[in-house]
Amino acid sequence: MNPVTCPICDYSYIPSEGSDARQHNRRCRRWQEACAEMGYTPEHYAAREQRKRESASLELTAISSRNRVEAALLYAKALFDRSLSTAIFGGYWRLHPDFETYVGMLSIKGLSEHLHDSHPPDPGHIKPGRSYWEPRVSP
Ligand SMILES: [Zn+2]
Repeated sequence: MNPVTCPICDYSYIPSEGSDARQHNRRCRRWQEACAEMGYTPEHYAAREQRKRESASLELTAISSRNRVEAALLYAKALFDRSLSTAIFGGYWRLHPDFETYVGMLSIKGLSEHLHDSHPPDPGHIKPGRSYWEPRVSP
């Protein structure tokens, strides 16, 4: 049987396989509870990829620094939603920074320099070049 992708939580699974279905139920419940409590639903994979493509085409035609900032924000939004989705499934989404704070934490060459005027840099939370926010593990 072919896997299906849940339209709510974007999880691919085989409904006829009990453990897979149970795993999906847990993830889906977690996803729905988090989204309801946040009042925000991160975009799924396909939509995030679309956002990145829009960003790239905006970047290609960018004639002003304002366009470049817009393109960078679209791209950062896709990264944010991916990071937040991972936090939801990891169970630490309540600790995840909001978008404005997250953007300041990013240190990605070709991206961050367009965003740091509007989003003051806040280094040390996300490793340079990376885009997943994770809670600090105390030693
Ligand atoms: Zn689901």
